[in-house]
Amino acid sequence: MIAYFENLPRRLSAAAGEDDSNTSDETNNDDLKSFGRDFGGMVTSVPAAVIQPSTTDEVASAIRFARAKGFALAARGNGHSIHGQAGAAGGLVLDMRRLAGPIGLTGGPGGPCAVVPAGALWAEVLEWAVTKHRMAPPSWTDYLGLTVGGTLSNGGVSGQTFRHGPQVVNVSQLEVITGDGERRLCSPEAGEADLFFAVLGGLGQFGVITRAWIPLLPAPDAVKWIRVVYSDFARYASDAESLVNRYGPDSFDYLEGFAFVNGDDPVNGYGLVPLDSGRQTFDPDRLPQGSGPLLYCLELALHCRHADDKRAAEMLKPLGYVKGLEFCAKVSYVDFLSRVNHSEAEARENGTWDAPHPWLNIFVSACDIVDFDREVFRKILRRGVGGPMLVYPMLRRKWDQRMSVSVPDGEIFYLVALLRFARSPPAGPSAEEMMAENQAVVDRCRSAGYNYKLYLPHYRDQSQWAVHFGENGWSRFLDRKVRYDPAAILSPGQLIFSPEA
Ligand code: FAD
Repeated sequence: MIAYFENLPRRLSAAAGEDDSNTSDETNNDDLKSFGRDFGGMVTSVPAAVIQPSTTDEVASAIRFARAKGFALAARGNGHSIHGQAGAAGGLVLDMRRLAGPIGLTGGPGGPCAVVPAGALWAEVLEWAVTKHRMAPPSWTDYLGLTVGGTLSNGGVSGQTFRHGPQVVNVSQLEVITGDGERRLCSPEAGEADLFFAVLGGLGQFGVITRAWIPLLPAPDAVKWIRVVYSDFARYASDAESLVNRYGPDSFDYLEGFAFVNGDDPVNGYGLVPLDSGRQTFDPDRLPQGSGPLLYCLELALHCRHADDKRAAEMLKPLGYVKGLEFCAKVSYVDFLSRVNHSEAEARENGTWDAPHPWLNIFVSACDIVDFDREVFRKILRRGVGGPMLVYPMLRRKWDQRMSVSVPDGEIFYLVALLRFARSPPAGPSAEEMMAENQAVVDRCRSAGYNYKLYLPHYRDQSQWAVHFGENGWSRFLDRKVRYDPAAILSPGQLIFSPEA
């Protein structure tokens, strides 16, 4: 076995039983096992070896090695997938976190850009951009402990998506190593445009992204952060949709929202809403009589400029939320973008960070969202999921159909994200029970004929992938696979292709 690894650029650990004088078998096994698990915690796919590249050339030689020796190879970002998508059972894992710095600044006709190694976390990009340069990428994820290469391989959505599009449309150039081990620079203007679009949302199938050029905008100092509560979903949706369609000074800079339980359940209920739980309280007496089992919280933010308090108040006026159930805070821009950190700290503390996470993310067309609320939120999920149930709209025109991501038809679609943080049984439901509930949600979408697509999709066979991408999308996906990774060695954990024998 050692011979297989002699020519590798750098080796963290090889398969158990190998004669290695520097690391014990036990260390090897533990390292390999930890790279065989992900945030979902439900799939184990122990690799034969983990490679820690520190340069693009090392990524290229690892891919050439894998191809020559018949190994599958997965780039692993921060391992925040749910179903083993960043794994390679018996194959090679590239630990992209080793390719994380330094970040560079470059100018260009379109303005300043960050040149970011793909293994950098978005939290590292934020720190670099704001602290050093008072600039920031326009589009984020809620949680920033994700790698740039990982979210660009999926989509990257948050409350800025309605305005700036997802992260995949906020990148101007990529450096990619394709499945034949070739380094290619690609962008819509400078060449290799098809590879550029293939890789964005491409689920790691067409190449390993090693660097991304990300345009920057001036960063605001502070943000006015607002939450307002609705008891009526149709009104919630119509207000949210009218806000995402606004332009210019009358538009918020961020829009998200979530469903929560109409009750004081400490995990799923009223306590989710106040922005400062020390000083703000949720007064249920404000709710209209006959409110249903779920309520809805619209979350908005305005980058602080001149006279913002007045502007925010004007913009809130026409909205149909429950008066008296509005919550505001002014926070620094960095604190706003890092807002999920305290939830992570809490989850680590109470053990739910390390428990299984059967998360489900779906894009549902606006034309079906009211029915989805009635049949899914208010029936299947009426007791909550032990964590946020996000539901907020985005505009299809802000996505680029040349990319690999598949989104529903229609002008507006919603992200529905069931972010389950359950305690391990017997304190909480089993992973199987949560998976069964997810399946019931997907079954309902299918049987009702909703126009929907899974985000961060997970399927077990190719016929399901073909349906996911649609007829044209699937034939384009197949063509691109043959062109950029003909031996089908990349990202086997997505379960789309098997490596050639
Ligand atoms: P990994 O899980 O390690 O990899 C994901 C896939 O991308 C794998 O197939 C892998 O092989 C491939 N890949 C990774 N790096 C590269 C690369 N450099 N080149 C080519 N392929 C690569 N998503 C959102 O859109 N918005 C959110 O707000 C959001 N919040 C999240 C919060 C948490 C706590 C978690 C766990 C996930 C969240 N996600 C969110 C989902 C996230 O986008 C995905 O998990 C994504 O996979 C990024 O995670 P990662 O960097 O750990 O990538």
